[in-house]
Amino acid sequence: MNAELEATPEAVARHYDHITRFYEIVGSRSLHFGYWPRGDEGSSLGEAQQRFTDFLIGQLGVRKGQRVLDAGCGIGEPAIQLARSTGCEVEGITISPRQAAQAERWARLLGTSGQTAFRCADAMALPFPAESFDAAWAIESIFHMPDRATVLREAARVLRPGGRLVIADIVVTETATPEERAFLHRALLARSLITAETYPAIVRGAGFDVEQVLDVSGNVMATLGAVAVGIEEKGEEVRRAYGEAFLAGMKSEWARVTNVASRGMGYVVLTAHRR
Ligand code: SAH
Repeated sequence: MNAELEATPEAVARHYDHITRFYEIVGSRSLHFGYWPRGDEGSSLGEAQQRFTDFLIGQLGVRKGQRVLDAGCGIGEPAIQLARSTGCEVEGITISPRQAAQAERWARLLGTSGQTAFRCADAMALPFPAESFDAAWAIESIFHMPDRATVLREAARVLRPGGRLVIADIVVTETATPEERAFLHRALLARSLITAETYPAIVRGAGFDVEQVLDVSGNVMATLGAVAVGIEEKGEEVRRAYGEAFLAGMKSEWARVTNVASRGMGYVVLTAHRR
């Protein structure tokens, strides 16, 4: 998180070059929220993140040999899990050069290099030909991007007709105040937070038929508390990696995010296919 920078793609790239290690320390190599089924509050953040990836793999429904775009791939963990569990091929892009290099390294270490490829690129201008993918997903990446409609049109362009799209994204609630919205934009380095209610029309407008918009807020928001626990438990490691001032700043910033999120933040999983 960084309240000072404007969320240009360059600033988002610098942010992730810097912050990825923090999320690895307090969570796992999956840089997204965790998912806790009702009644199962016991699992760790890492377990819940893995479970959320598995859930999204189920939503995507791809088969062995199919080609999938991962738009905003982080350090590759979701793409690697997807490739391993389905036998598909994944092209991951991230705006952070450091993340792209790390994702390639993890793929080599984990033995998926034959199925996965990662590079630094902007999802607003995809370096792929038209109709070259069977499916695409974007996990907690679109809210960083300056223009959601452009990103979605780019996804539609590179998908074959009928190709599936899964989006996991942070949204703002309809009741969020302008101050809360402004705070969340700054704190999350977000460029384009919208409400769950306005999402389907934007996806339809980019050339998709929307299948489902699932509000999973109740299953994922425990992530915020889990990260706060992670900051306490792994404080020493965070301090070694980033220094005392970062640790103190992160603790107070995270408490503010958690407070505002309880009223102003939601989370959706949207599934669609290209018309
Ligand atoms: N989906 C990954 C990473 C989520 S973090 C995971 O679940 O682990 C957000 C990701 O979005 C980062 O990898 C960041 O580099 C990427 N991102 C943000 N803006 C982007 C853009 N304009 N083009 C491509 N990737 C972008």
